[in-house]
Amino acid sequence: MLPTRGYATQSPMDQLKPFNFERRAPEARDVVIEILFCGVCHSDIHQARNEWNNSIYPMVPGHEIVGRVTQVGAEVTQVKEGDLAGVGCFVDSCRVCANCKEGLEQYCEVGALYTYNAADKDGTPTYGGYSSQIIVDEDYTLRISPKLPLAGVAPLLCAGITTYSPLRHFNVKAAQRVGIVGLGGLGHMGVKFAALMGAEVTVFSTSASKEEDARKLGAHNFVVTKNAQQLEALASQYDFILDTVSATHDINMYLNLLRRDGVLVLVGAPEEPVAVNAFSIIPNRRRLAGSGIGGIRETQEMLDYCAEHNVTSDVEVIPIQQINEAYERTIKGDVRYRFVIDMKSL
Ligand code: NAP
Ligand code: ZN
Ligand code: ZN
Repeated sequence: MLPTRGYATQSPMDQLKPFNFERRAPEARDVVIEILFCGVCHSDIHQARNEWNNSIYPMVPGHEIVGRVTQVGAEVTQVKEGDLAGVGCFVDSCRVCANCKEGLEQYCEVGALYTYNAADKDGTPTYGGYSSQIIVDEDYTLRISPKLPLAGVAPLLCAGITTYSPLRHFNVKAAQRVGIVGLGGLGHMGVKFAALMGAEVTVFSTSASKEEDARKLGAHNFVVTKNAQQLEALASQYDFILDTVSATHDINMYLNLLRRDGVLVLVGAPEEPVAVNAFSIIPNRRRLAGSGIGGIRETQEMLDYCAEHNVTSDVEVIPIQQINEAYERTIKGDVRYRFVIDMKSL
């Protein structure tokens, strides 16, 4: 067993506090990664506070992990000691179902093994990236380019792939009109990718103060969504809308913006059910879809694309001692645009 230091919460009401635990001894196909940076995703907050009603405690959150390989098992072939490596939202899957075979492990028919808040094969809980090290099968690790600043790379492992994957799947391309709803960790990556893919990008935000940033990130238009009238004028004009909002909100006003056969992809995961009016989607044959993170192959493609185009996340680097304050600020939308923990502070 490998003694490991981390931060955990013990219940939905608790703060995160120092927590020592043991990780399983590495096996022949495993890679041991010393964690250098870990992003703070809103999903960490939903789960730490049991907002999705599936939390296991104690919980060590964190699934936007970059680090350095310190040890590899005897059968590991793709990774060597000293390499940079990344780990995202899952650390294993069945490997043999149709979805796994297609490289869509996030939709594994048996269920992907999540990086934290899941039961490992031996029944023990998985613990995430707010910790000193992690042990992962090499097939579920990602190659990280040394070209990019590492703190800004960490959020690509969740916020990056979660926005890149639906933009690619729904074939967003030049001259299309794309809306990004919510300018947080996911939203700001969605703006960067959609702009790079050549789309005309509009940010729909509740925070008027984010306009200048939105334009710097590549948005062409910025709409403060407290003004419903302004949205009415944009009805039936958008090809694709990515909704990244973490809290309950009215999705109908965005569905109404889709032109014929347009699609709204929901990636934000509020705790309450989403109410959809039939007459928000019947006109224009509109579509509402969901999308979950991305598979290993596509995550690697996204990381390589980011290295090629010099894309990273805009981050506020914090010591782990500030994690509880970072959660509160994230909930208030007060982060530009992702907190990333510098694990040296642990
Ligand atoms: P985040 O950084 O907190 O950003 C969410 C943004 O939503 C905020 O910055 C804010 O943007 C907007 N917002 C917040 N509260 C709102 C409200 N009451 N009404 C309207 N807008 C509000 O969160 P994140 O890390 O990007 O994650 C966003 C959501 O995606 C979370 O629910 C998370 O669990 C989910 N997620 C899903 C996947 C997936 O695979 N589908 C993967 C990762 C995360 P403005 O200030 O611009 O309004
Ligand atoms: Zn996440
Ligand atoms: Zn599978």
